[in-house]
Amino acid sequence: MTEAATESAISSWFDDGPEPTLLGLQCTTCGNKVFPPRAILCPNPACSGTDFQSVPLGRFGKLWSFTDAQYAPPPPYPAATGEYEAFALVAVELDEEKMIVLGQAVPEVNLADLSVGMPMELTTGTLADGTVVWKWKPAGDQS
Ligand SMILES: [Zn+2]
Repeated sequence: MTEAATESAISSWFDDGPEPTLLGLQCTTCGNKVFPPRAILCPNPACSGTDFQSVPLGRFGKLWSFTDAQYAPPPPYPAATGEYEAFALVAVELDEEKMIVLGQAVPEVNLADLSVGMPMELTTGTLADGTVVWKWKPAGDQS
């Protein structure tokens, strides 16, 4: 996959506005929502829907699990040019959809700041190569 294809694929997964929002797909037959937006068939086993529409997902959730990345991930993950800095990886259960969405925490957040069940809010940030991605921060945090 080319770098441009990667960027456009990821950028279509969220709306990078003043209130960043993940973009999922919703089955027009049963209303089931999917993220990332990759559905061909509805994942609801009781539904055979194949038609989907793009829908914004809730921006808030509860921290479901977390860890940190103490070692630089191998290519093709974008490599930092300077010294590698560990970051927190979080799994957040969306309040409304009850889906679990992975992502990085904002760089200001350390493992000691996190606890399972705490309210989290979607925001955006950049990877080492400048690619804009969604990230998570404690809800109400101004960072
Ligand atoms: Zn469906």
